[in-house]
Amino acid sequence: MAECLFCAIVAGEIPATTVLETDRILAFRDINPQAPTHILVIPKVHYPDVATLAAADTSLLGEVIDAAEQVAAAEGVAGPGYRIVFNTGVQAGQTVPHVHGHVLGGRALTWPPG
Ligand code: AMP
Ligand code: ZN
Repeated sequence: MAECLFCAIVAGEIPATTVLETDRILAFRDINPQAPTHILVIPKVHYPDVATLAAADTSLLGEVIDAAEQVAAAEGVAGPGYRIVFNTGVQAGQTVPHVHGHVLGGRALTWPPG
């Protein structure tokens, strides 16, 4: 069993509802959705957060963003509007140390966030 929760999902050891998969990217529904559309987009390879991913592989970071855009379009939230969020670090509320972009949409999102 992989020690990282999202690596375990990539390995198929923990089930997830996949909405998009490429050779390097996985997108799946958040288990505790905060909006009608709430999908997590991750690189299959482990990076702890978006800062380490950006420093190591901007091409892969671009693939994460591109997948997030595709998911938003497929979910029908691209027109009305949506948010891509990378919680980074403890004070931002990051709880899973495998970089993930939240794609949130389907309702009016308040600003500033909590
Ligand atoms: P963050 O707080 O930014 O690290 O986001 C972690 C997200 O992972 C939260 O929104 C959780 O609801 C979500 N999550 C935790 N476990 C699972 C799981 N097994 N499958 C899908 N999403 C999960
Ligand atoms: Zn991981």
